[in-house]
Amino acid sequence: MQQTNSYIVSSPDAGKGLDKAFEIAQIALCTATSERPCGVCRACKKVRQRIHPDLSVIEREEGQGGKPKQNISVDQIREIVHEAGIVPIEGQKKVYIIKEAQLMNTAAQSAALKLLEEPPEWVVMVLVTDNLDALLPTVRSRCNRINLNSENSAFSEQTEKRCESYMKALAMGDRSEVFCAAMDLKLKTLAETEEFLQYIREYANDILCYRRKDPGLGRELLFKITLIADRCTAYIKANVNPNHIAGLLAVLPFEDRIIEDDI
Ligand SMILES: [Zn+2]
Repeated sequence: MQQTNSYIVSSPDAGKGLDKAFEIAQIALCTATSERPCGVCRACKKVRQRIHPDLSVIEREEGQGGKPKQNISVDQIREIVHEAGIVPIEGQKKVYIIKEAQLMNTAAQSAALKLLEEPPEWVVMVLVTDNLDALLPTVRSRCNRINLNSENSAFSEQTEKRCESYMKALAMGDRSEVFCAAMDLKLKTLAETEEFLQYIREYANDILCYRRKDPGLGRELLFKITLIADRCTAYIKANVNPNHIAGLLAVLPFEDRIIEDDI
C-alpha cells in the first residue's frame, strides 16, 4: 500500500490546518528540481494565489440564505473522484484539499475512500480536520497523519531527542546499535509512544519531501520508517505494551518487507 500521497492534517485551529494543506499542495506542485517548495516558481505563486488549475479546494456548499450547508455532500466527493481520473493540466500532480473533512457524512467518506484506496498516481489528497475521530478508521488508516497542536511545537523535547538517537543508530546500519537505541528510548506510556511514532513518521516524511536533510538514512529506509511507524501505531491503538513496540523498533528496520496486517 502506497501511503505517501494522502494526508490528514488535524488541527484545532482550522486556519493553521489549511495553511499546512496549502504547503503540502505547494510541495506537490512546485516545479523546482531541488528544494521544494521553492516559493518563487509560477506553480508556487499560483498555489499561493489559489489559482493553480491542478489544485481544488472542496468545502461546504452554500445553502439557503447564503449559509453554508451542514455537510460536505456525497455528490461533491463523487465529483472529485470522477475528476481525479483525468490527468493534471499543468503539473505532474493534482491536489485535492478537503476543508472541514469531519463534515463529510459516512456516504461521502465512503466515496472518498475509493480515491484513497486506489488513487491515480498523480493524486494528492489532503483532508483538513479539527476532529480526527469523526473520520472513519478506514479513511484514517490510509492517510499520513499530520497533527498540529495549537502551540507551535507539537512535540516534546524528549521526543525529538529520542528520535535523534534512534535515527543516528539507524543511519549506522548496525543491528546491535539499533537494538540498544530502541531499548534506550524507554517508552513508558501509550501516549508518549504514539507521539514518538508520529514524530519519526513526520521526520522521515520531511526528508522524503526535501524539507529536512537526510543524515544518511536513504530513501528506502526512510519509506520503511514511515511504514514501521504506521504499523506500530496500529499496535498502540490495539493497546500493545510500549515495551513490545520498542522491540519492534529494534528489529523491523532489518526486515525486507513491513507487512501491514490488520490488527
Ligand atoms: Zn516552486
